[in-house]
Amino acid sequence: MDVQWLMVRSLPGLENALISRYAYAIEYDFVFPHQLDLSLALRRWPNLFLAGQINGTSGYEEAAAQGLIAGVNAARCVAGQSGTLTLRRDQAYIGVMIDDLISKDITEPYRLFTSRAEYRLSLRQDNADRRLTAIGYQFGLAGNSEHQRVMALEKDIAEARQVIQGIRYGGKNLWELMKQPDFNYADHPELPQFSPRVHEQLHIEARYAGYIAHQDKQAQALRKLDNWKIPAGFDFNIPGLSAEAVSKLCKRQPATLGLASRIDGVTPAEIALLQVRLKAFSATHSHDLNEETPTP
Ligand SMILES: Cc1cc2nc3c(=O)[nH]c(=O)nc-3n(C[C@H](O)[C@H](O)[C@H](O)COP(=O)(O)OP(=O)(O)OC[C@H]3O[C@@H](n4cnc5c(N)ncnc54)[C@H](O)[C@@H]3O)c2cc1C
Repeated sequence: MDVQWLMVRSLPGLENALISRYAYAIEYDFVFPHQLDLSLALRRWPNLFLAGQINGTSGYEEAAAQGLIAGVNAARCVAGQSGTLTLRRDQAYIGVMIDDLISKDITEPYRLFTSRAEYRLSLRQDNADRRLTAIGYQFGLAGNSEHQRVMALEKDIAEARQVIQGIRYGGKNLWELMKQPDFNYADHPELPQFSPRVHEQLHIEARYAGYIAHQDKQAQALRKLDNWKIPAGFDFNIPGLSAEAVSKLCKRQPATLGLASRIDGVTPAEIALLQVRLKAFSATHSHDLNEETPTP
């Protein structure tokens, strides 16, 4: 009797179980995902886009989300359109996943958890249209009417925020009152009323304002680093970097300083050193550190 039998039969109720046929093992080859870029193209063969478990992920949503990015970018590539659809960590969970795949050591099938997102206070289901419609429109994925709707919503939210911030109510500023958990706007019909969606967004915004502002600051710092492009073939053998950092940077060849900073084992001090070296590099070669994101 083999060990599986013993294990199964050790369970109460399964003392006499018979195994007629074992299930299957899941074994498949995969590409080391650090060989991809943020558009999900293979860096070595930039016309080949990969999505799903071939990139070391597990899960329907993970596969579908990558399929969307790889599919859009493959279609653009075939149509000869410049500019790729990529999402940042502070814009979408898709951005978190792809960034993780490229920069982290993936040692087991990757699943996307909310805990992997450092900006999860902003990556909410209720604001998905506000975060992503403009990008979708830019890449031909969202129609004009949807884009107009979201722009009108933004205008309504901005106007309502201004109105609320200008009101004093019961001796206090209304916006400050809305931050208090026991203040319910709906209990005060005498106050200016807005659409339910505008109310919802402003309510969340006011209540989490401090945390969201903190996250925005972090996201800005991240964007700054992400804007520092590292040229292909850059020599990472820089005096002062640890052997671990050099080996990981050489292996992964991060395309931006942001991606380099998220590699496990590369410290902030080493990123500062890399930044100095990149500056010197750009001064001697005509390398643009702050390339604009190409427009489609
Ligand atoms: C038993 C089981 C249960 C699971 N349960 C869940 C779950 O509950 N929730 C969840 O989120 N995930 C679950 N998963 C994981 C999920 O199914 C996979 O991660 C996901 O389907 C991967 O999608 P994919 O598109 O990358 O690959 P696949 O869905 O495997 O698609 C790859 C396709 O490529 C085809 N193909 C392969 N080679 C070739 C070739 N040479 N030419 C042409 N076509 C080819 C295959 O036939 C297949 O249709 C489960 C997986 C298994 C095995």
